[in-house]
Amino acid sequence: MKDKLLFDAFSALSLGVIIVDAHYRIVLWNAWLETHSGRAACEAVGEDFFSVFPDMAFHRVGDAIRQAIGHNLSSLLSQSLHRSPFPLYAEPARPAARLSQAITIVPLGDCERYCLIQIVDVTAAVHRELLLREQAHELLSQSLSDGLTGVGNRRYFDLCIDREWRASKRNNKPLSLLLIDVDYFKLYNDCYGHQHGDECLKQIATALRGALSNPADVLFRYGGEEFCALLPETRSADAVEVAEKLRTSVQLLDLPHAGSPDSLVSVSIGVASLCQQSHAEYGQLIQSADNALYEAKRAGRNTVRVSTTYKKPIPVPPAQRG
Ligand code: GH3
Ligand code: MG
Ligand code: MG
Repeated sequence: MKDKLLFDAFSALSLGVIIVDAHYRIVLWNAWLETHSGRAACEAVGEDFFSVFPDMAFHRVGDAIRQAIGHNLSSLLSQSLHRSPFPLYAEPARPAARLSQAITIVPLGDCERYCLIQIVDVTAAVHRELLLREQAHELLSQSLSDGLTGVGNRRYFDLCIDREWRASKRNNKPLSLLLIDVDYFKLYNDCYGHQHGDECLKQIATALRGALSNPADVLFRYGGEEFCALLPETRSADAVEVAEKLRTSVQLLDLPHAGSPDSLVSVSIGVASLCQQSHAEYGQLIQSADNALYEAKRAGRNTVRVSTTYKKPIPVPPAQRG
């Protein structure tokens, strides 16, 4: 009666249970295992464990079983390190992906040693964890990208410049920053309406992003009609070349702008490169790029100007600035 009760209990368990003896012979194989391995208990009981699961001989599971039998030691095999060691499936007749498994191996018996192997199906939990991780990743990337143009937002820029600034100082590597401002954009909105203005900003962002060929270079929307690009490990002369490429990419969009002297949408770009002596903090690099941008505007717009040294902010009447 007691044996029957125990057998029924093992059969009703919703986890896999295998017991092997000191000679690694299977002495118990429960109903859950029959369902998920496709092997009946009568085919498994009496067989050598390592003949049934040859892959386990050199696996951590095999080591754990030998330790349980030989040294009376228990083991817990983490599912992140050993996701699916046993060939177990939701439907063994149609084996797709293996079940994700959490495995516990425990020694049993006093004089005569046995080993209890418990296998829990953690597929649903692993799947849930994956979904949560994907959602967290998606939320993070949404919180760092600009809603209109899809490029990095100001928050992301603040994070990146802080990180790149420190890396450049630490490794004594160059770092360049481009501040990019759309020319006469207020007039663009006045001529074509705010919605067309938004479309224009999207096209500019796409062109600028496409013109950045180095994967380490990142484009951000700095605010309003201003963008910026952070170019790690790039010295001034190379940064000016990149800036020229960006300026040209916007010109090549060939977007009409009735309010601009050239009748086309264009951008002005200020370039600044980290100077270890004169830039004590990254705000000063931004200020240098801003000064250069101001020079580009003064020089007639649709042009690139460069500054390598930090100068104190020039007070500018708001009416003159973009
Ligand atoms: P400058 O050549 O000196 O840069 O002149 P500007 O007209 O571009 O500069 P200003 O700062 O006078 O005007 C910027 C304009 O950009 C005003 C603002 O309405 C427009 N703007 C800022 N953000 C957006 C936006 O998200 N969508 C649209 N459509 N317009 C925007
Ligand atoms: Mg502007
Ligand atoms: Mg502006």
